[in-house]
Amino acid sequence: MVRHSSKMVAPCGMNCTYCYVHHKRKNPCCGCRMSDENKPSSCRKCKIKKCINEKELNYCYECSEYPCKVLKRLDKSYQMRYHESLIGKMSMIESSGLDYYLEKEKERLKCPECGHELNLHDKICCKCLKKYEVDELKD
Ligand SMILES: [Zn+2]
Repeated sequence: MVRHSSKMVAPCGMNCTYCYVHHKRKNPCCGCRMSDENKPSSCRKCKIKKCINEKELNYCYECSEYPCKVLKRLDKSYQMRYHESLIGKMSMIESSGLDYYLEKEKERLKCPECGHELNLHDKICCKCLKKYEVDELKD
């Protein structure tokens, strides 16, 4: 059973709270671990989610094959496109715990002006829509 605070963190380490699809005005996605309604097709077809469900794990780091090819490929694409490392997020969850990770992301991905969440993909505030430079996730 996934604890309440972790429902928004996907098996790959992505925190859906900061996803741009979660903040769309029209038909927002509720998150990887939530219903498939309004979920982008790439997320609905996600191999990582399918794999985690089959192995009955919560996060990729719990797997004996971690970090596998599929995760490495997704991580690479996230680093290239968004300057975010999913494996980096996951190793923080593994070493320091979920609460620590959630707190770190909350500090890092907060609009300096209005305090709302930034989306992690574009680094744009979900409320005032301003774009910011954001540091990498670090311990
Ligand atoms: Zn703002």
